[in-house]
Amino acid sequence: MSIAFGIFSVKNGKKRLAAKWGNWVIDLYALAHLGHFDHLDIKKSVFKNDFLNDFIALGKTKTNAVREVSEAFLSNEQNLENQSFAHHATAVELHLPIRIGDYTDFYSSEQHAFNVGAMFRDPANALLPNWKHLPVAYHGRASSIFVSGTNFHRPNGQINASDTTMPTFSATKRLDIELEMATVIGKPNLIGNAINIDQAEDHVFGFMLFNDWSARDIQRWEYVPLGPFLAKNFFSSLSPWVIPIEVLAPFRTPAETQNPEVLPYLREENRQCFDVNLEVYILPKELPQQEFLISKSNFKYLYWTVAQQIAHHTVNGCNLNVGDLLASGTISGKTPDSYGSLLELTWGGKNPIQLTEGISRTFLEDGDTIVIKGFAEKHGSRVDFGEVRTTVLPTMI
Ligand code: MN
Repeated sequence: MSIAFGIFSVKNGKKRLAAKWGNWVIDLYALAHLGHFDHLDIKKSVFKNDFLNDFIALGKTKTNAVREVSEAFLSNEQNLENQSFAHHATAVELHLPIRIGDYTDFYSSEQHAFNVGAMFRDPANALLPNWKHLPVAYHGRASSIFVSGTNFHRPNGQINASDTTMPTFSATKRLDIELEMATVIGKPNLIGNAINIDQAEDHVFGFMLFNDWSARDIQRWEYVPLGPFLAKNFFSSLSPWVIPIEVLAPFRTPAETQNPEVLPYLREENRQCFDVNLEVYILPKELPQQEFLISKSNFKYLYWTVAQQIAHHTVNGCNLNVGDLLASGTISGKTPDSYGSLLELTWGGKNPIQLTEGISRTFLEDGDTIVIKGFAEKHGSRVDFGEVRTTVLPTMI
């Protein structure tokens, strides 16, 4: 079993670094005080922190050593009994683990880009001419990213279904999800210095689950010519645990061959993705205790790898910093049951999803809860990404 990193607090307590160990939340500051990490020359104050950033900035040699020492110690069940450093998951509060610097959202799943292009433009020319030559992305907003369990109000905005009439102002009627993974940057590059694709993964600390909430009707009217703006930045949801990239070594899988061939700075010797199962559940307002599975996708369904995203992001000299977040874009597989948004699952709202008798959805209603879960599993070993859970509240106005 491997640990994931997060930030927790107990009632009236200060925030500390946490390790997820099965259903236990382990207090890493307490382990540091017991001397477990003394040989690693790390200030104990790093473990008593509101965010993981200072810990991540120590570098992979130290963060992986903390992980390995902790795993070896926790693997002995006797070490967990009646210990004050081990909390039941239900007894603690988990917080946003990263002080997010800059946030970029890619658009790296071919099936998702194809589906959206086919719906809004032309199925014969669904992908725009640049799509297979560079990983398309936009710069998003970090301030509106919140941890699982935080809810948000349905956003208002300008809506116009046609381009020839006057817009109206109202709450979005097409509130949607985007099933994504987020990459946490663990090592910076200096301004002006591109990251070579062969070194790109050295700059990755780990991965998290991400829900890029989207208001499709606001998006439709605003996105030309500069891309998404208010349709996206009203709220985004992040899971509480970061899975270090090294933990996913057994789950590496060959990435799809790219055709046409990409420019040399995007070429990889050995293209790899990560085999992580992703699931989307809806708990409808009518049956708020019941989970209905609406999509099964996988982190491996990406045309552009994380290494390519990083190489492209920095090829102009743009500097990435510790704690920057790169989201994958909606991850859709080839079959309709693996599409990562309601836009695709209902094909633009034309085909409602029947959840159970008398309950169906096209887009989300107030009181609906969305849960995204992720896990990797192979030969009996399992890496659990946890979940990101969010409820839609009524509009504020
Ligand atoms: Mn997105």
